[in-house]
Amino acid sequence: MAALPDPMVPIPYRIERYRKETHDTFTLELRPASDQALPPFRAGQFNMLYVYGVGEVPISISGNPENGEVIVHTTRAVGTVTSAMQHLKAGHVIGMRGPFGSTWPIEEAKGQDVVIVAGGIGLAPLRPVIYYLLNHREKFGKVVILYGARTPEDILYRKEIESWRKRLDMEVLVTVDRATGNWRGNVGVVTRLIPRGPFDPYAAVAMVCGPEIMMYYTVLELMDQGIPKSNIYVSMERNMKCAVGFCGHCQYGPHFICKDGPVFPYERIENLFTKREI
Ligand SMILES: Cc1cc2nc3c(=O)[nH]c(=O)nc-3n(C[C@H](O)[C@H](O)[C@H](O)COP(=O)(O)OP(=O)(O)OC[C@H]3O[C@@H](n4cnc5c(N)ncnc54)[C@H](O)[C@@H]3O)c2cc1C
Repeated sequence: MAALPDPMVPIPYRIERYRKETHDTFTLELRPASDQALPPFRAGQFNMLYVYGVGEVPISISGNPENGEVIVHTTRAVGTVTSAMQHLKAGHVIGMRGPFGSTWPIEEAKGQDVVIVAGGIGLAPLRPVIYYLLNHREKFGKVVILYGARTPEDILYRKEIESWRKRLDMEVLVTVDRATGNWRGNVGVVTRLIPRGPFDPYAAVAMVCGPEIMMYYTVLELMDQGIPKSNIYVSMERNMKCAVGFCGHCQYGPHFICKDGPVFPYERIENLFTKREI
């Protein structure tokens, strides 16, 4: 059996495909550029992506966990490293180490309804769960996907969402904060879609990812609908350097986001969630 790679040493991966998702968001599909490869990942985990000569950032894995050959990352360009990454092209090589962090509770959700609530780029870390649910649809109860974006132009994976919406075995609702162009869909924050989701709150697991303020109101609404907080999971982000629990950059109260998270049962971080300075 091949030895596991050193978690601190980036492995070269070549960009096989670059896809522009929105004006500031892009998806990279990567394959190993040498005979070394990262171990398989599970939904919810992230890799550290190293743009040579610029720096390294944590980015969630947004591809299919059952197709480990191609590693997929969807990134929004917000600063130094992600903007440099946005200008890469197919054929370029970046360094990657990982996968790191905790996972979405797919096993716990088996036999129950699954409610996915995503805001903006928060759909990327949840997409591996959706692939898993679709590949093993018989193992779950109702599947409800609720997605909110700022404007119609900010909607990620638009074609894929349209194909999910055509399926009769799950409910997919999309909303935008601000309608532009010829948008005729829902307008308003994603929390407003929650009461419309046809799930049984007493037998449902909710997975939530988006801006913290969105997650805060989403959790409140899910609990209002009757989902116990022990069945609600959120994914947290903090600035991060080592990703293996040494440096302390991503400390969140008593937790390190890199190794205790990014996915947390809401119950575990409830008392930190409302404190904006943490
Ligand atoms: C576990 C994890 C998973 C992530 N997954 C994704 C993903 O799938 N797609 C994606 O686009 N982004 C993701 N992020 C966020 C991404 O890591 C940051 O956007 C990136 O580190 C910014 O680096 P930069 O050098 O481009 O920006 P910088 O130049 O460092 O900063 C630009 C701006 O972004 C802010 N910022 C920097 N890092 C973070 C952060 N981690 N959280 C919040 N604000 C930050 C800074 O305060 C500054 O205002 C994830 C973060 C974590 C911790």
